[in-house]
Amino acid sequence: GTLSIASILAESARLHADRPALHFMGHTIPYRALWDQTRDYAGALAARGIGPGSRVAMLVPNVPDFPRVYYAALALGAVVVPIHLLFKAEEIEFVLRDSEADLLVAAAPMLAEAARAAAKAGVPLVTVLVPDGTEIGGAPVPRLEDEAAAATPIVRHVPVNPLDAATIMYTSGTTGTPKGAVGSHLAMVEQVHCAIIDAFDTRVDDVIYGGLPFFHSFGQMAVLNLAFRRGCSIILLPKFDPDEALALLVRHQATVFTAVPTNFAGMVEAARRSGERPPLRYAISGGAALPVALLEAFGEAYGAPIHEGYGLTETSPAATFNYCSEPIRPGTVGRPFWGIDVAVADAETDDRIEILDDPDALGEIVVRGHNLMKGYLGRPEATADAVIDGWFRTGDLGRVDAEGIVTIIDRKKDMIIRNGYNVYPTEVEAVLTRHPAVSIAAVFGVPHEVHGQEVHAAIVPAAGRNPDVQELVAFMKEKVAAFKYPRVVHVLANLPFGPSGKVLKRELVKRFGA
Ligand code: ATP
Repeated sequence: GTLSIASILAESARLHADRPALHFMGHTIPYRALWDQTRDYAGALAARGIGPGSRVAMLVPNVPDFPRVYYAALALGAVVVPIHLLFKAEEIEFVLRDSEADLLVAAAPMLAEAARAAAKAGVPLVTVLVPDGTEIGGAPVPRLEDEAAAATPIVRHVPVNPLDAATIMYTSGTTGTPKGAVGSHLAMVEQVHCAIIDAFDTRVDDVIYGGLPFFHSFGQMAVLNLAFRRGCSIILLPKFDPDEALALLVRHQATVFTAVPTNFAGMVEAARRSGERPPLRYAISGGAALPVALLEAFGEAYGAPIHEGYGLTETSPAATFNYCSEPIRPGTVGRPFWGIDVAVADAETDDRIEILDDPDALGEIVVRGHNLMKGYLGRPEATADAVIDGWFRTGDLGRVDAEGIVTIIDRKKDMIIRNGYNVYPTEVEAVLTRHPAVSIAAVFGVPHEVHGQEVHAAIVPAAGRNPDVQELVAFMKEKVAAFKYPRVVHVLANLPFGPSGKVLKRELVKRFGA
């Protein structure tokens, strides 16, 4: 075969045939069995006319059917369009239309929304995990399982051009209309190789936590494709719950925990409730800034370091990482993956890339390399705005030091300007999280008549704590400059999180900005 995402599973079925690929609800699925099931599913998809260049949308949680459907579609040379699981019918319909999907594969929990969206967009629907005899609008719903039983399994995956599209992933819309980032086979496979060869410390007998959603490029690269390329096993968890996650990590003796910062906060709380610990060697964080206090609290609770990386859906996703072979530099996102350039550009010049060569200059982080998306599907203008002279503008502000270590300061659009002074929410959040009564914090700007914007914070208390708002403001006032500390602190039971683990600051601004 050629270099392709499907070859990851196909080759591991040969090299690691009897090793466990997945642990799920007390069952273990070895590599060869998983590939056989995938070939059956591919036979069913082929019978529906799916082939090279077809687009297969999927709404499937982290259960064994995710890899089966994903690799089955890719094995036929089709492009996978993973949709995030919290989307409602209208949002799903948008993705189906925008991606010109040929088929939607949906799992039981998403069936109602999926069926409405598919009917409206005129896209055929087939289901997984749906009990036999389930009906929608009086008609039985087609089940991929039944179709696979009746179809002829494929023998092998079709060769593809490594530069061809493999995935279309919609950026989760923290910032506006979702755009489909088209990822190639090469970008995805190179990511995994760079991680295995230098950045991570992946071992064949690793047992990797698999609760990070596979529909997002972080979970797809750093868990699914990475583990399967190396022959590790994955503990599937369809819905994150910290106590359940901890119990699973202990039961399966997990060695690697990969997650977003908010999950780490949950795991620290779970450890306070449970006496048991898994034998973690290390953990990986990405997707949002990891407060140093959280890195320390997790280290104390689990005896494992967290290696933080940085990236975007458009960069497949990893651009940088705190390499496992080097001392961790807390508060930084480490150095670029092999073969990827990360630089700082003037954030004010929109039409060209003006690289700032001084070490530690503050500007917009730009990325160049084999990991870039092919473009935004059907949006040549948006692509041309984002990728200039081969550099992708990330929209994040940061610095690169003389040794090439990258620090993310904040998103350009999240920066608050109070009385003409720049306030970077991430920095303020990191200080707020140091307060023992605070589990997680989000700092955001609210329009203000006098100051332009006022700094607000929303926090979730640590378990069993009942923080005093005045005391929190006083704590912050003592630790950061007068223009930076939050004048208003909102105590919430939970923060509004997007599907990839980021706080939806827009919603906080809307809620508290009136
Ligand atoms: P949208 O593109 O619509 O904003 P999104 O933010 O969910 O949606 P992703 O590709 O999931 O899209 O997220 C990429 C962003 O996540 C980066 O631009 C950056 O702001 C943030 N990010 C990722 N890793 C880190 C990190 N380690 N530290 C700080 N921010 C990070």
